[in-house]
Amino acid sequence: MHPTDFTLRGAIDALSEGIISSVELTSAHLDAIAKLNPRLNAYISVTGEQALAQARASDARRAEGTAGPLDGVPLAIKDLFCTAGTRTTAGSRILGNFTPPYESTVSANLLRDGAVFLGKANLDEFAMGSSNTTSAFGPVENPWSRRNDPETRLVPGGSSGGSAAAVAARLALGATATDTGGSIRQPAAFCGIAGIKPTYGRCSRFGIVAFASSLDQAGPVARTVEDCAILLRSMAGFDPKDSTSADVPVPDFGAACARGVKGLRIGVPKEYRLDGTPPEIAALWEQGLAWLRAQGAETVEISLPHTQYALPTYYIVAPAEASSNLARYDGVRFGLRVTEPGSDLKDLYERTRAEGFGAEVRRRILIGTYVLSAGYYDAYYLKAQKIRALIKRDFDEAFRTVDAIVTPATPSAAFGMDEKQDDPVKMYLNDVFTVTANLAGLPGLAVPAGLDGQGLPLGLQVIGRAFDEETVFAVGAAIEHAADFTALPALRAGI
Ligand code: GLN
Repeated sequence: MHPTDFTLRGAIDALSEGIISSVELTSAHLDAIAKLNPRLNAYISVTGEQALAQARASDARRAEGTAGPLDGVPLAIKDLFCTAGTRTTAGSRILGNFTPPYESTVSANLLRDGAVFLGKANLDEFAMGSSNTTSAFGPVENPWSRRNDPETRLVPGGSSGGSAAAVAARLALGATATDTGGSIRQPAAFCGIAGIKPTYGRCSRFGIVAFASSLDQAGPVARTVEDCAILLRSMAGFDPKDSTSADVPVPDFGAACARGVKGLRIGVPKEYRLDGTPPEIAALWEQGLAWLRAQGAETVEISLPHTQYALPTYYIVAPAEASSNLARYDGVRFGLRVTEPGSDLKDLYERTRAEGFGAEVRRRILIGTYVLSAGYYDAYYLKAQKIRALIKRDFDEAFRTVDAIVTPATPSAAFGMDEKQDDPVKMYLNDVFTVTANLAGLPGLAVPAGLDGQGLPLGLQVIGRAFDEETVFAVGAAIEHAADFTALPALRAGI
């Protein structure tokens, strides 16, 4: 077995049994990155020397008997998390060579538990996108390809496309990611891996470059549901440095994966049966529900009546918050500064922001500024906030009678790198099944469940009650068990 083929759980066991050292495991991943990253572009920066130093330190801790729960496990870190001493780009030119003097709380928690960082994973600029084609550092390629059309290069989804592609291609055992409207779940589904956006407040946002602060949540992607559970346990926890971080205990998510679904009531929202959903996705959804029934769950139809307003609501709230958050990139405080001799401050702002931000980020800032402007605030932003409250109320109602909700993760499989690029609205439709969980602050897990006719992975989504990730993991693990998803992407290490 090639060392990059371990699951994260398997690697932890192999490390503790002395079957492999962290240096061996880390070197195998660095070799795989050297071979495949020039094509996949999943990493913006590879921190090989630092990774090997961390691996040696981990092996020493293990020899002393002081190893932590993730000791020696090589991970990728989405380049939206500040990493002390390592350049952090947010996929943008505007941060220039910004090297944070501090560590994000989530990545600090992983380091505390012994993880090894291989490098910084590519992403859509400021996490805005569904295809990882808006990165200033070039697009990421999905390691999967269509059976009958292997030449067409596919997107890995976004915005955490680098994290998902790295994990699917075995260039990391797991990765951090963030999800504002679907950026963990959609790329996980496109790349045939698992990913969870936990409840808002479960992971600290301290040190994560902000997109839309009331929606942003960190979470893991990994090749199994249990691997996500293990990572989330380390990433999560109260942090006084984030005023929206929740002071609640972090349960043993890994143990919850083995709970089973017997007696659980699973909601099936009728509004998620959209016209134009490919029949394969509708069939996989039915199949997923049948698997859960076969394991003792009951499935019931529910109604989430405001679902149809979720995307328009998201595309008002998220750009509004983004336009405010991104005002700080003014050429004075961080990174890039573009100026001409004799030009004034306004000119400095304009030149820096025009050159530093890509087209999608500029579009979001324009939309956000517009919906917050004095004349339109009530008509757009305020109205969107009211609908957001109704969307949340729909879920509160539903969770009075069901324990979890199961839906498709995405309305399509991965698409070609030059498809949908000319139409932002088509691109925004990718998030139709995922944004509701962000608007309501609820946990959502994507789990690979099958393949489409072209051999591309398709995922199902499990949404749970706030702070009930344990049930979400139990349902996700039950689907994973029944799906027995063993297909592998064409591009991967170890072959
Ligand atoms: N695709 C969505 C957007 O572009 C979600 C991105 C995300 O979750 N970060 O806004």
